[in-house]
Parts: sequence; structure tokens; C-alpha cells
Amino acid sequence: MRSSFPVLAAGLLIACKSLLFVVPSAAPRSVAKALKQDGINSAASQPSFDACSLAATAAVALTAAAVASRRSVTAAGRQSKIVRQARGGDAKGALVVIAGPPAAGKGTQCEKIKEQYGFVHISTGDILRENVKNGTELGLKAKGFMDSGALVPSELIVDLVKDRLTQDDVKEKGCLLDGFPRAPDQAQAMVDAGIKVDKFLLIEVPDDTLVERGCGRRLDPETGDIYHLKFKPPPEDVVERLVHRSDDQEEAIRSRLKIYHEQIDGITPFFKDQVYRLDGTSKPDEVFGLVTNGLSDL
Ligand code: AMP
Repeated sequence: MRSSFPVLAAGLLIACKSLLFVVPSAAPRSVAKALKQDGINSAASQPSFDACSLAATAAVALTAAAVASRRSVTAAGRQSKIVRQARGGDAKGALVVIAGPPAAGKGTQCEKIKEQYGFVHISTGDILRENVKNGTELGLKAKGFMDSGALVPSELIVDLVKDRLTQDDVKEKGCLLDGFPRAPDQAQAMVDAGIKVDKFLLIEVPDDTLVERGCGRRLDPETGDIYHLKFKPPPEDVVERLVHRSDDQEEAIRSRLKIYHEQIDGITPFFKDQVYRLDGTSKPDEVFGLVTNGLSDL
């Protein structure tokens, strides 16, 4: 729509200009003479030309408005580029943070975002779980905190994320940072390190909805499949072996939500201009529609 403005305006302008040339020469001499004889000189026939110049002026104004609007879009793009350049100097890809309470559907949206935008997905939860699995020093230190649902101390994770963000694949393809920053001091560490975020997607879902989602969730320990008693009922033959994880019990969920709210309120002020809040209560494809709206100016 925006791009059709200049074409339309230019068309209007050309049409009017050709009228200015064509009409006087095309007017039969007899008509001109008759007009003169009646005391109506060529100035009297001016109104049609005035209308034309008016249209021409409007066309010019339209073109100017379209150019100005295009300039402001380009300026937003330029701003994103400047922001990216500040991160490691030569980063081409965008840095997108995705945040939201537990069970908000971040995992599903991350899959869709990765597929559509080709970002490198960096999940601090995945990195920590991998370290726990491999029994690394970091894993041994982090395990206790993770098992109790607490946050791992920031000093264990900040340098690791900072290093990862400066690697070539991230600079080239851009990054979807999931699970970080998870505390205000982590946000502060990003700012101090000059790591600039292009967009901070914040998925919002009311606590009661999240409790309902979590409480009904069941894990099949044999296949790793996740079901929901109401939203994604399991097949009859696996029901017996399904597990209701301890961190999916109402009390545990509410306590995780309390921690989440305390932390996120201290994090968002660091990214005031980048925060894009979106409603995570609808179906995954609809939520993804909101995500793409949020990322449209990158
Ligand atoms: P997640 O898979 O993102 O829910 O993370 C699983 C667990 O890893 C969390 O409950 C925390 O214990 C820990 N964790 C993940 N990311 C962070 C982070 N940025 N800061 C501190 N702890 C984290």
C-alpha cells in the first residue's frame, strides 16, 4: 500500500502535465475564437487548468508524504543495524530475547521462530541441563538449584552466555536467547557488556491459566511425550504409566510464578524500548502471528 503511493502520485502528476499541454492545442481554433468574441479570454478557461495544478500539487504532497513515511521505516531499520553493530562490532543478525512465565508456551514459539527466522537458539536451561548430564563442574554446581526450582547464581551463567553471544554463528544468523536474562543482575551484566537487544518478546499469560496448564500436565517416562489431561488427552494404553512431575504441582507452580514476577519486573526496565508484550492465551499459531508482528521491524 505504502509503495503504491509514489506511483499513484507520479501518475497523477504526469496525467495533469500532459493535460496542460494537450488541452490548449487540441481545442479547436473556432472555439477559442468564439470564447474571445464573447469576451471570455483564455484566462476564463483557466479553472480546468487550476483544478489540474491543484491535483498536481496534491500529487507532489502525496509523494512527499510517502517518501517521508518510507524514510521513517528505513530509519527504524537503520537504528536496529546500529544496535547490532554495537554488539561485537560486526554482528549482522538480530538479538531477540524471549521471556515469559513457566508454561507460557515459550518452547513452542521458539521452535516456530527458529524455523521462520533461522536464528541460533540459545537456551540457558538447555545448556545447564546438558552440563548436569555430563557432570561438568558447572553442572555439579547448578544441579541443586535446578532441582529445587531456584535460579542458578548469576555468576555461574553470565560469562558463559556472553562468550556464546560473540561466536560467529550468532553474529551471522542472529540469536534467539531463551531463559536469559532471568534476573535483574543478568540484564545489568548484558548492558555493562554492551550487548544490545533488538527485541524483547514477553509472552503474557494469567497465573490461573498457567496453574491449570501445569496441573493437568503428564509426562510419559518411556517416550518423553507430554500430555495434558484436558487439552491433549493421553491414549488409554499409556495412562497408567504417566507421571505428574513434582514441579507441575500447584504449590510448586505458584512459587515459581512468584519468583518469575519478582524477577521480570526488575528486568524489563533495562529493555524499555525493545519490550514487545504479547498475549499467550490463544492457540500456538495465533500467538506466533503476534510474535511475527513483534519482529516485523527487525
Ligand atoms: P528452563 O528450562 O529455562 O526453565 O530452565 C531450567 C532451570 O535452569 C531453571 O529453573 C533455573 O534453575 C536454571 N536456569 C535457566 N536459565 C537460568 C538463568 N538465566 N539464570 C539462573 N538460572 C537459570
